[in-house]
Amino acid sequence: MVEPEWMEHARALVGKEYGRIYAWDKVNAPMIRQWCEIMGVDASPYLLEGGVHAPESMLQVWCMEGFTLRNYPPGSTTENPFEVLNLMEIQGLGSVVAVNSELQFIRAVREGERLYYTTRLDSVSPEKITALGTGYFVTFVMRYFSEIASGDQEVGELLFRVFKFKPAQVAAPGAAASAPTKPKRPAPGISNDTQFFWEGARSGQLRIQRCTACGTLRHPPGPVCSQCHSFEWEAVTASGRGQVYSFVVMHYPEVPPFEYPNVIALIELEEGTRLITQLVGIAPTDVRIGQKVQAEFHSYDGGMVLPQFRPVRSAN
Ligand code: ZN
Repeated sequence: MVEPEWMEHARALVGKEYGRIYAWDKVNAPMIRQWCEIMGVDASPYLLEGGVHAPESMLQVWCMEGFTLRNYPPGSTTENPFEVLNLMEIQGLGSVVAVNSELQFIRAVREGERLYYTTRLDSVSPEKITALGTGYFVTFVMRYFSEIASGDQEVGELLFRVFKFKPAQVAAPGAAASAPTKPKRPAPGISNDTQFFWEGARSGQLRIQRCTACGTLRHPPGPVCSQCHSFEWEAVTASGRGQVYSFVVMHYPEVPPFEYPNVIALIELEEGTRLITQLVGIAPTDVRIGQKVQAEFHSYDGGMVLPQFRPVRSAN
């Protein structure tokens, strides 16, 4: 296949090594303890036995920038190790999905060590056509080191691969006169355990699974009651009233057909179970935790019915 000319510039970057990105903090016990708590891992083997050392799979955590993008400690490189992705973006490959991530560990890191990593653009695949769209698999390898006066030591490696692509079903430039095909929503995977929920949605009901042995409500649906381990259950219809328990606003990457910024909310129903859903009828900047909402049902792509929630004004 003949590649477009701009790909020559992209391919010329393969093998390029980008400079160091340092950790803000030395390896420390509070971060280890908090990470273990979030991951549901017992921290005591890392904090008590044989001196403080970090779980290997925390490796990437140490050198993260935090909430502000590209906010790295002094001494870190100012180069953008992902410049090849920017090159592709300019060419209309605006979407990206992470494909795989592989960690290799050379040794555990101990309290007080300061880490940094370097990035190498490892490979760019030939053009691939996938269900998502057409683009390139791009692989980066980050090598992690511990800074040591007598000579830095490599402690591990992260392979990170993304698919950078132009989404399928987007009208080609010049074809703007004809109506572009609207990409469809991903359809839910429906199993024996979840069929009742989607059937309920089609008839305008928000259904919750209830254990017939102990009466516990549960969502998302599953085959077994987490309280009493009974396999017996029935579906009850919820009122549809609830409140915003938590939410995130997705800005990037933009995946069609969703509109961005895309608010994804965790709604706590008045019955007590929670579900992840989209909000309608509200600007992303106006969403508040605790806001009262009401379920409504919308059809998409000729047949799929999804429950979504609309804020309601509190009756005062
Ligand atoms: Zn039960």
